[in-house]
Amino acid sequence: MKHIVLFFFTTLRLWAYEYHLKPIQVSQDVYCFFGKTENISKENGGNMVNTCFVKTKEGFVVIDSGPTFSYASQAYAQMQKISKLPVKIVINTHDHDDHWLGNSFYKSKDSLLIGPLTYEQNVVPGMHTRMERVLGNKIFEGTKIVKLDKVVEKTYNFTLGDKEFEVKKLVDKAHTKGDLIIVLPKEKIVFAGDLVFNDRLTSIRDGSIIGSLKALKLIDEMNATVVVGGHGYKTDRNATKHLEAYLEEMKREVLSAIEDDVSISDINKRVLMPKYKTMKLYDALQKRNVFEAYRELEFYTDEEEE
Ligand SMILES: [Zn+2]
Repeated sequence: MKHIVLFFFTTLRLWAYEYHLKPIQVSQDVYCFFGKTENISKENGGNMVNTCFVKTKEGFVVIDSGPTFSYASQAYAQMQKISKLPVKIVINTHDHDDHWLGNSFYKSKDSLLIGPLTYEQNVVPGMHTRMERVLGNKIFEGTKIVKLDKVVEKTYNFTLGDKEFEVKKLVDKAHTKGDLIIVLPKEKIVFAGDLVFNDRLTSIRDGSIIGSLKALKLIDEMNATVVVGGHGYKTDRNATKHLEAYLEEMKREVLSAIEDDVSISDINKRVLMPKYKTMKLYDALQKRNVFEAYRELEFYTDEEEE
């Protein structure tokens, strides 16, 4: 009897938060869990982010590990339903905490953790994250901060089983100072991390509007058939278009305001971009984005793009 009880406890681990994760197949052997297009909350358990996994003959490659240990554990359980393969590699696209707090789960599975230099610089064991603050101890249970096994500064290519992977940083600063994209060159699939947003506004507080536009152009030039962003549900070759249009309009409007000597304290009265008012997170992010764009574009000249 004792054994039976123990069996149930080890196989049916009950988490404080049930994510109800459902893998969506976006291409052959490629699946993603799409999070809600909203801010972090106790109600969504931090599941406002997209994470993906690629099945190879040797095991899985995971792109972004999600917001908590229990999210990663529940994602892993879903992967095992597709195939009883180990997770060999986990790649973190950037150092924002919704994308990598599941790392400690994969560390416990002996996966190799790969990420950008900014993770190495900014993610310190023992530090407190915004995710932990919002979710509280219960949902966050088991989540620890772990170091990477491999840092990618510029590019890193590898083959696992039957699949080739390219990990690369496209520009110095876009969404952050260290954004990695993951490309499956043969299958023409791009995991763009937060260089691509859909169905909600982005935040450029840690990034650059010019760098973001440059990165989006480089992704367009890859002519991928599948492009998965860090947030939002569109995954076709036009997945970049929403953010591109938003940032182009902001650049144009802020530059024209600067031309008219509008000061930074008045910029949010001038640049409202009403077409995006109904877009999710407009109220939370629009003003700050315009402010950051002004700070960057104040000293901007076209030649910088050459
Ligand atoms: Zn994100």
